[in-house]
Amino acid sequence: MGGSTTVAAATAPALEVRRESGQREVFCGLTSIVWLHRRMPDAFFLVVGSRTCAHLIQSAAGVMIFAEPRFGTAILGERDLAGLADANEELDRLVADLLQRRPEIRTLFLVGSCPSEVIKLDLAKAAERLNTRLAGQVRVLNYTGSGIETTFTQGEDQALLAMVPLMPRAPAAPAAEGAAPAAAQELLIVGTLADAVEDRLISLFGRMGIERVRSLPPRHSRDLPAIGPGTRVLLAQPFLSATARALTALGAQLISAPYPLGVEGSAAWMAAAAATFGLDDARVAAVLDPLVERGRRAVAPHREILEGKRLFLLPDSQLELSLARFLQRECGMELVEVGTPYLDRALLESELALLPAGTPLTEGQHVENQLDRVRAARPDLVVCGLGLANPLEAEGIATKWSIELVFSPIHGCDQAGDLAELFSRPLRRRNLLRFS
Ligand code: SF4
Repeated sequence: MGGSTTVAAATAPALEVRRESGQREVFCGLTSIVWLHRRMPDAFFLVVGSRTCAHLIQSAAGVMIFAEPRFGTAILGERDLAGLADANEELDRLVADLLQRRPEIRTLFLVGSCPSEVIKLDLAKAAERLNTRLAGQVRVLNYTGSGIETTFTQGEDQALLAMVPLMPRAPAAPAAEGAAPAAAQELLIVGTLADAVEDRLISLFGRMGIERVRSLPPRHSRDLPAIGPGTRVLLAQPFLSATARALTALGAQLISAPYPLGVEGSAAWMAAAAATFGLDDARVAAVLDPLVERGRRAVAPHREILEGKRLFLLPDSQLELSLARFLQRECGMELVEVGTPYLDRALLESELALLPAGTPLTEGQHVENQLDRVRAARPDLVVCGLGLANPLEAEGIATKWSIELVFSPIHGCDQAGDLAELFSRPLRRRNLLRFS
């Protein structure tokens, strides 16, 4: 196993980014199906892959596989892999069977995997073919969730990107120089949020004066929001680089803000939208101030446990920079190292500006080298994937499973206390179990 490490300057002059490559301990993009299928109950995700892919999704989905599943795997057999069978014909047959059994499906995602990519099965063509055949009944889209192309949350980015071409075009803004009048502007929240969190945020935006708020992905897969020069895009998740680029290419404007994790990040996120819409400061403050006050009170008991504790984040979901910012600034933790699988400086500009000077940032992974640094630093808490959590616990190092962060409602000021608790809990448990 080879690996390399280079150190390069980041945008913020005080922050350096170590770039690492080598063996990685991360999920592939297929995992994002687990939360995407819950968001769009009328969609089905058909992975075209191997038994390994089927096992991965089953283990990630856990007990959810016993509910009526809205995802599955078309397993490529040896005859497909050897090129003896026409994989396209088999796929068409399987899709026909599936749709006969499940007539309620409105959108079918064909999800590429490592095996389908390696045998160069053209899923874009397959989607085109099936779309013609199923016109009016089901819409077929395709994207890749393979481990070769995507890491964990990047699967969501690819799924949303596949939906962008189908979004209706909003009428062009009539105002000069491309500026849309406030009444023609629509706020588009991009990134999967828990339904209850989304409802709450939309009602808060409404109280601030933003009436037209839509979301991508929508709750009904066919109810896609319109996109155009009057659209103001507010990313709820930092891992949506490709989707953000595609939306801006269609004329939408991206609002630059920290991500809505923690009290400070969530308030700044909402305030950035309010500023873009030119809303009245007093009205915005009347909505935000009580939220901030309540959020801080909810975080306070967890800060007592977390303050001064040393934190090491291994790369996993691309949420790491926002989490590090929240845990350092609002919970008083000390950052030993902040790893991320991929660092999109344009989307993380506001987060980078809020991290303390000298924070060691790492992009990519060489897991053995990184574990050596964990062992040398002996941090109080390590945020990592399931594969590393138990081995590190066995070495006496407290861990927090990062996967919980993508399945739990953690966005917004109201959730800041719960978010802090996800990190204080393993430390509290450790104290409770300590025998003196
Ligand atoms: S897509 Fe690739 S990395 Fe993901 S489960 Fe399938 S084979 Fe493994």
